[in-house]
Amino acid sequence: MVAARREAVSDKLPGGKPGIGNVAHFPAAGAIRTVGVVGAGQMGNGIAHVSALAGLNVRMLDVNDERLKTGVESIKRNLGRQAERGKISAEEMAQTLKRIKTGIDYKLFGECDLVIEAATENEQIKREIFKLLVPQLKPEAILCTNTSSISITRLAAATDRPAKFMGMHFMNPVPVMELVELIRGIATDEATFQTVKEFALKLGKKAAVAEDFPAFIVNRILLPMINEAVYTLYEGVGSVTAIDTAMRLGAHHPMGPLQLADFIGLDTCLAVMHVLHDGLADSKYRPCPLLVKYVEAGWLGRKSGRGFYDYSGETPVPTR
Ligand code: NAD
Repeated sequence: MVAARREAVSDKLPGGKPGIGNVAHFPAAGAIRTVGVVGAGQMGNGIAHVSALAGLNVRMLDVNDERLKTGVESIKRNLGRQAERGKISAEEMAQTLKRIKTGIDYKLFGECDLVIEAATENEQIKREIFKLLVPQLKPEAILCTNTSSISITRLAAATDRPAKFMGMHFMNPVPVMELVELIRGIATDEATFQTVKEFALKLGKKAAVAEDFPAFIVNRILLPMINEAVYTLYEGVGSVTAIDTAMRLGAHHPMGPLQLADFIGLDTCLAVMHVLHDGLADSKYRPCPLLVKYVEAGWLGRKSGRGFYDYSGETPVPTR
């Protein structure tokens, strides 16, 4: 099964550099038995979910017990859905939950072979996390970040192990979406890359390799479209319903761009646009002022109960 999936990984890096296929024997995912996840939000709990379901021990940390409780409840709900659909058994669900341990002390990560940082999309927060995390890690542990946009090389430089550091960018919702983007920093060594790639395959994911440029591949393309949808709303070209209907039926997108923005989190969308704008210095990436305003209001989308839709009732109601 793994061999078949391997074909899904591109073999060459952009520019024809050797990618994956020509490197023979690396430790591979067998070396990864215990996975740490920093952040129990929608991405962190999803990564914990798929890792535990793949039979790995999981340690998940957040800033307080309440966030952890919400994260674990999400995992239970999502596993429950998979069980209802017959994708996993009740026994598998129980065993998966048993493999997940949570805490707020970084000592939790002492046994981890791989730790994935999936906290808020803010470089300062991520740097603070690495400062606390790194002293607790085994010397051979690999460190990944799930950042949507921030430079892997710059984050790596804030740790003690740039060679064992890389980007592992999962898609939302993690248990459902097939893709993981793999991003090397300038110092990432080949053994680390191969081990993380094998780990992604073990989770049942397919991988695409991206170079370390702002927002990588998926968000470099997706977020300017979402930002443009917000401009379309801001300029009164269409209502929330009109814009989402137009793109669902007119471009065959499974979700409208504003619905998708709410799903991603408007704070994350804005953070990615800032990284694109700052990193590529092109005015076409200017965040829409309406997106800025929504984030300032604390209207972050689904996770805060309001964004371009209001989620307080049974069905989401457009707010404009
Ligand atoms: P979220 O807001 O749902 O969760 C973020 C979590 O990080 C929260 O639980 C928060 O308490 C926690 N956190 C904040 N500061 C922390 C700290 N100092 N230590 C430990 N935990 C801390 O956000 P999310 O959507 O899960 O995004 C997390 C990361 O994943 C971001 O880097 C984001 O860019 C990336 N990402 C998001 C998506 C998406 O669609 N939302 C997709 C791919 C990647």
